[in-house]
Amino acid sequence: MIDYHLHGDFCGHAEGELEEYIQEALRKDFREIGFSAHLPLVTEPDPYHAMVEEKLPDYVQLVQMLRDKYRGRIIVKLGIEADFFEDYQSATKRLLDQYPFDFVLGSVHYLGTWHFTSLAGRDRFKTEDPRSVFPRYFEVVKKAVESGLFDILAHPDAIRKSDFFPDFPLLDEYRAVARRLKEQGMALEVNSAGLRRGAGSVYPEFDFLRACVEENVPVTIGSDAHKPEDVGRDFSLVFDLLRRAGVTELALYENRRMRLSPLENYFPGRSWRVSG
Ligand SMILES: [Zn+2]
Ligand SMILES: [Zn+2]
Repeated sequence: MIDYHLHGDFCGHAEGELEEYIQEALRKDFREIGFSAHLPLVTEPDPYHAMVEEKLPDYVQLVQMLRDKYRGRIIVKLGIEADFFEDYQSATKRLLDQYPFDFVLGSVHYLGTWHFTSLAGRDRFKTEDPRSVFPRYFEVVKKAVESGLFDILAHPDAIRKSDFFPDFPLLDEYRAVARRLKEQGMALEVNSAGLRRGAGSVYPEFDFLRACVEENVPVTIGSDAHKPEDVGRDFSLVFDLLRRAGVTELALYENRRMRLSPLENYFPGRSWRVSG
């Protein structure tokens, strides 16, 4: 298996040393993992939510050291999860260009001042109206994709909760995002953390994934683990979903270049063809 979304103790809200994530991945028989610590915020330092800039060189060095140490046992990729801030795109690019990342996850965690994925942002779901929030959210996501800053769109509908969803269909939004991903040569992340964060299913929801498959958008998978035991969490469910959506390949990254590899390589012993 493979997991392209792992954090670690470089920010205040994740725990466990990076090497513990590798140990867990080895125990679970993974072939390849990608670390994706939170890139330092370009808006203002926030050591709880992201690493501080002084730590970024240490992070890069540590992942490179671990990659060499575990060579032959597991493939370790140097990724990063970067926030999209419309007004800070050149600062983000400057930071990303300084290091030889294998992949960059692009994430929308903020709507204006609302940090909706944080603990502090949780209460606001009670007062916001999903009918106005979702269109605003997708405007930001489309800009993030069009920015050209990222390789992979992470947790594509992270704004979704099982009790926070508009009463109108979103298929047009999903298709608009899918088209832009295709145009930019980006991949879509299927992220199992939706199951642990109140969305009731993985990110993105099935219709969103289907819209991307129809546009031939490549797919990566990630657990978004913030502690070692969450490496590969709920991936058998992810596998079933990918298969049901018609995904047959996974996107792999090296030096920010993508190649595709058959899904069946990563789920040994699982029947990947849809029967009947
Ligand atoms: Zn995080
Ligand atoms: Zn995220």
